[in-house]
Amino acid sequence: MNSNTAKAPVPVAAHGGRNLVACEGALRGRRADERRTEGMGRRMRLLLVEDEAKMRGVLRRGLEGAGYTVDEAADGHGGLSLALDGGYDAIVLDIMLPDVDGFDVCRRLRQAEVWAPILMLTALDAVEDRISGLDAGADDYVVKPFALGELLSRLRALIRRGRPPRPAILTCGSLKLDPATRVVSWDGEPIELSRREFALLEFLLHHRNEVVQRNRILRHVWGDRTDEQTSNIVDAFIKNLRHKVDRRFDHPLIETVRGVGFRLRCPAEE
Ligand code: CA
Repeated sequence: MNSNTAKAPVPVAAHGGRNLVACEGALRGRRADERRTEGMGRRMRLLLVEDEAKMRGVLRRGLEGAGYTVDEAADGHGGLSLALDGGYDAIVLDIMLPDVDGFDVCRRLRQAEVWAPILMLTALDAVEDRISGLDAGADDYVVKPFALGELLSRLRALIRRGRPPRPAILTCGSLKLDPATRVVSWDGEPIELSRREFALLEFLLHHRNEVVQRNRILRHVWGDRTDEQTSNIVDAFIKNLRHKVDRRFDHPLIETVRGVGFRLRCPAEE
């Protein structure tokens, strides 16, 4: 076993001829937002995985400016090895990495039962990326280019939510959804879902018994478009899910919370 687990800064994988040093800047001066994290008893620790040096530098400074302690990695392997050691309050993970991509990093972490919230960075505002990320176990996204304020606000939300262990297979009574195999079944009987229906159901299962706002669903499954038309899309897909999944239950599985959104109710687990 590796006994070298002291708290000294951990050199991260060399990249582009430079050694990045984790915890760099951790002791820098206090700033206004620092209180926000210290108010929770200690400084929050983040892992930042981003291969582009300039972007990484900007992000690290921004995160440290908000009071976080930041470890950084410039590739997927470096990120994985740091994240597997655990202890991060959240992970900011770029998708496009030179070795192991962000999806893979995310998947491997979840398989290893590392449940730190993961905020993915994507340059591609593509539905496929978002869905692949959700399948891999990511919690949220920002699309480059983004405002630092937006990233910080998403991070705070994720950290507040904490890191409840998420089983590889999501269940609600007899309903099972396996993100790895993309199989949904009810009482052992497979249910055919389209890709977006799957993403929607998976999102609801991740937040079972919580009220999930339409906007959150939109952002996770369809991207940042929030016009009237896309809002109707959520309702249309909820209707599809009710038809395919809900009818198998003897009570409504997906509740509409008027004026807010939806709740996937799993009575046996309440
Ligand atoms: Ca990248």
